[in-house]
Amino acid sequence: MFATFIEPAANRGVGVAFTDRLGGVSTGPLAELNLGRSDLDELDSLRANMALVRQASGFVRLAAVHQVHGTAVHLADEDGRDWSCDDWIGDGVAGAQRLPVADAIVTTTPGLAVMIRVADCVPVVLADQAAGIVGCAHAGRVGLLDAVLPGTVQAMYDAGAQQITAWIGPHICSDCYEVPSEMADEAADRLPECRAITRWGTPGIDLGAGAAAQLTRLGVQVHRVDPCTLTTPSLFSHRGDGPGAGRQIGLAWIGDCAPNGGRVAT
Ligand SMILES: [Zn+2]
Repeated sequence: MFATFIEPAANRGVGVAFTDRLGGVSTGPLAELNLGRSDLDELDSLRANMALVRQASGFVRLAAVHQVHGTAVHLADEDGRDWSCDDWIGDGVAGAQRLPVADAIVTTTPGLAVMIRVADCVPVVLADQAAGIVGCAHAGRVGLLDAVLPGTVQAMYDAGAQQITAWIGPHICSDCYEVPSEMADEAADRLPECRAITRWGTPGIDLGAGAAAQLTRLGVQVHRVDPCTLTTPSLFSHRGDGPGAGRQIGLAWIGDCAPNGGRVAT
């Protein structure tokens, strides 16, 4: 179920998780633990999959965004919604509240998990445990180069963060991420650490190195927990599985509960 799972008790009260594709109920190309693609999957499967993640993690509520490869940061505290599973599924359910359009999401509310969906793009989870602020960001090529990560860090500083730690989760690695040479050059011009050559010697982009460089320059401590989505069978991959690829998620939450344990008091 999890490529990485750090329980709050082991991380000064902040839970961090990146899911993989194992352990859910989705079938076919979306098997097993699809946590996105409400356009392609059975909604009951999505509900069941998220219920499994919720049960294993112990968070109380969940906030998500409608991702558009942009740089907007949604502050999940502001709307005060009690998000239901159907809100998470979003536009796939009649009557569901529309998800805010953003590619990063930040909260200071205990028990409220924030999530971001990915297949090959870079999921980044961020936390200032002492200040009680957590966030997630979706950084594909476009969002990374347009500085969604510095924008997320700034939003957390604005909310009172002082010392941020980031976990860079599973994404397509620089050995595998081939792009046209013009695209590779443009990426390297804007973010030099992105420059890469694929395993077979063609122009590529190193999304993880670019993300790490941006974060480090802003004083963020970076942990890389990022196996390659394309070459790791237990992970969904847009390039590996095609345009109908399932989605895994990055998750962060402030909690005082252990996995499978009690609930946050609020
Ligand atoms: Zn790779």
